Amino acid sequence: MLKKKNIPVPEDNLKFIDVHCHLPFPRPKNDQLPSDKEQYLSYFKMGGQFLITSSIDMNTLNIIINFMKKFDKNFGFTCGWAPQTVTYTPKTKYNSEWRNWIDYIQNNSEKYLGIGEIGLDFHHAKTLEKRNDQIKEFRKIIELTKELNKPYILHVRNAAKHEFDKQHPEHRFNKEDAANKTILNILKEFNIEPKKVMWHCFSGPAEYGKTLSDQGFMLSVPSSAYGFERWRKVTKFSPLESLLTETDSYYQHPFKRGPINVPSNVKYSISAIAYSHKVSQQLVSEKTIENAIDFFNLEIES
Ligand SMILES: [Zn+2]
Repeated sequence: MLKKKNIPVPEDNLKFIDVHCHLPFPRPKNDQLPSDKEQYLSYFKMGGQFLITSSIDMNTLNIIINFMKKFDKNFGFTCGWAPQTVTYTPKTKYNSEWRNWIDYIQNNSEKYLGIGEIGLDFHHAKTLEKRNDQIKEFRKIIELTKELNKPYILHVRNAAKHEFDKQHPEHRFNKEDAANKTILNILKEFNIEPKKVMWHCFSGPAEYGKTLSDQGFMLSVPSSAYGFERWRKVTKFSPLESLLTETDSYYQHPFKRGPINVPSNVKYSISAIAYSHKVSQQLVSEKTIENAIDFFNLEIES
């Protein structure tokens, strides 16, 4: 049995911003989730101030653009080419999809809020070749978008202990912070300012929660931090000034095993931060909204 910690539930009337969800998105089979429209409307009814959704490739970008023809109030999106997209897109269509994507990014920068999720995922890429491919594509994205001066949203997942590359067991990419280190080197190489970079669903290792925020990076705390201590402890020592809140829905869930999440659950990120930082939920709500407005340069319509 999971031992439940006594974390207070989200208070009534909290205001919030989910800076990273996937709505709309291709649905899992037989999902129990409310419709995209219902999720969008209930988010604002429950206290949402602005909602940011993330695409991961050309297909999900088109789905979002289409949805926004009807629903665009206080709703924005970021343009991602996720590391999973690099690893799983069939070779036969990779180049044409990529060209369409980079073409959109370079010619429509006024339409979107940031670039991401982009990054490295050494859980999905377990071989040296696949890891090097992700690195090559990440570097290319930074190089080609640097001049646009948009915020970046990173997806960074280090290899777990059992996920080492069996052909190269001693390789540095197997280390528990290998993806973090590789990303940091590339950002440095291109002189990307840390304050323009958010680590989405920040997952550690724990000491990075402090060192990254010290350097000026922004870290986003998922709603799963409410029910899972490992998500909470990595930002325990990051100041409120560096924190944002997200659900990553429909992935994850505040306290069950996802993926069955909705954007309004972002209020659980607020409870989690209030608990780990020993401050009021009200303060966390105010700070994280302010941080989101600053980071993404949001204009909230009333
Ligand atoms: Zn995501």
